[in-house]
Amino acid sequence: MAQSPKDLRIAILGAGMGGLTCALALAKEGFKNIDVYENAHDLGFVGAGIQLAPNMARVLDRLGVWKQIEAEAVNITETSVRVGASDTELAHVPLEYIHDTYGYPHMVGHRSSLAGGLYQGCLQHPDQIRFHFATTADKVTFGPKPSFTATPRDTTKEPYRVEADILLGCDGIKSQTRVAMLDLLGIEAHVKDTHQAAYRIMIHKDQIKDDPELLALMNSNKVTRWIGEKRHIIAYPVSNNTIYNLSTTQPDINFAAATNATYTTRGDKSVMLGVFSDFCPMVQRMLGYVPEGEVCEWKLRVHEPIPTWVHESVALVGDACHPTLPHLAQGAAQAIEDGGVIGAVLAKLPDTSPASITKALKVYEKVRKDRAYALVELAAASGRALHLGDGAAKEERDRQFAALRQGKGPVPDKWADADVQREIYGVDTTEIARERFDELFAA
Ligand SMILES: Cc1cc2nc3c(=O)[nH]c(=O)nc-3n(C[C@H](O)[C@H](O)[C@H](O)COP(=O)(O)OP(=O)(O)OC[C@H]3O[C@@H](n4cnc5c(N)ncnc54)[C@H](O)[C@@H]3O)c2cc1C
Repeated sequence: MAQSPKDLRIAILGAGMGGLTCALALAKEGFKNIDVYENAHDLGFVGAGIQLAPNMARVLDRLGVWKQIEAEAVNITETSVRVGASDTELAHVPLEYIHDTYGYPHMVGHRSSLAGGLYQGCLQHPDQIRFHFATTADKVTFGPKPSFTATPRDTTKEPYRVEADILLGCDGIKSQTRVAMLDLLGIEAHVKDTHQAAYRIMIHKDQIKDDPELLALMNSNKVTRWIGEKRHIIAYPVSNNTIYNLSTTQPDINFAAATNATYTTRGDKSVMLGVFSDFCPMVQRMLGYVPEGEVCEWKLRVHEPIPTWVHESVALVGDACHPTLPHLAQGAAQAIEDGGVIGAVLAKLPDTSPASITKALKVYEKVRKDRAYALVELAAASGRALHLGDGAAKEERDRQFAALRQGKGPVPDKWADADVQREIYGVDTTEIARERFDELFAA
């Protein structure tokens, strides 16, 4: 039996953005027994960009890892929403105010830089955090001493059971922990097919050295979104303006008949070019730079919201409980907020009893759940507005874009809307958890 809360054995399943943040936040709070089990051989993140919003940066800065992530990132000072077919600008939104208002700029970076920064932060605590890569976790059981089976990928090694005092299911959109929790509680919550898929593409500077138009985008501090019916492309430079990152959204065709377990597939370049064949020549040229064989398509799936993220001494974190469409660029940011809050609430544990652990984890859920699900809904709504085809709704949206050009009204591309930014960037969930812990713990 652990003598002090800081001696509790904490098992973290998954070393993605949520798992790494939980591990680092808990180590910073002085927890001594943190074990992270990761299916992959290493962090192994697919090459892709990621938006580093101020609410994410605030958590990372508190954990001491923001400076090195920021050093490789690109500061975004403006965003432009454009008609895909004609490249006509629908809206231009300056974003320089974000730094002064929220204390951090809106940046974009490489996923490996974000994950690597968190991982390096964890490695500063070798006596507290142990990593178990190439180890798959499943058969999670609940109760005061949750446990699971750890199966090393090395088939010469036997699977073994691991028992912990607290288990954090940070195992992503296909979370086994989530499935086990819902099974136990008799809750049905299905995977929701969004009917959308995404290509993620990176173009290196040397590939476009003779293309002044694309070089200007590469050297800019701008997020550009080209929109069309049921499709869009969002693009921005990353890695100190040496890579131009594109992420598309289009109707899902290739995964429609695939099982729910299929999330990525090697895409066909000619099919990708066909999907955007009515977009403007510059976009076509951009897509043309992608080397044959390097097109990767992702299925965009989300889950129905679930009534609880916590059962006994087990909590779900990140995409395991609130997977989202990427249209608000908040998926990883929300997983990272989860990690900050987990650190804050477990640091306030008054004792090591299972009842206190459950109550503290419930404080995490109370602080995080409604906010995370509101942003999941907002991301879906933003996608719907961006993907409108001809009709009254699109006319109304385009009236909003026109009003915006006159300096008034909301931005239909929600991540760039100042009121939405206030709700997302202006809220410090770690601080809320600290301030409201006693009240929520007692409730
Ligand atoms: C096209 C696209 C663009 C996006 N853009 C952005 C963006 O700009 N900004 C943003 O904030 N978010 C973005 N996101 C969302 C973001 O990538 C996710 O929300 C985020 O990675 C979730 O973090 P996580 O830790 O919950 O899950 P993950 O990062 O998926 O990590 C889960 C980890 O658990 C491991 N794992 C799974 N099962 C097991 C098991 N059984 N045993 C052991 N390990 C296991 C996995 O290998 C993985 O490492 C985007 C997503 C997509 C699809």
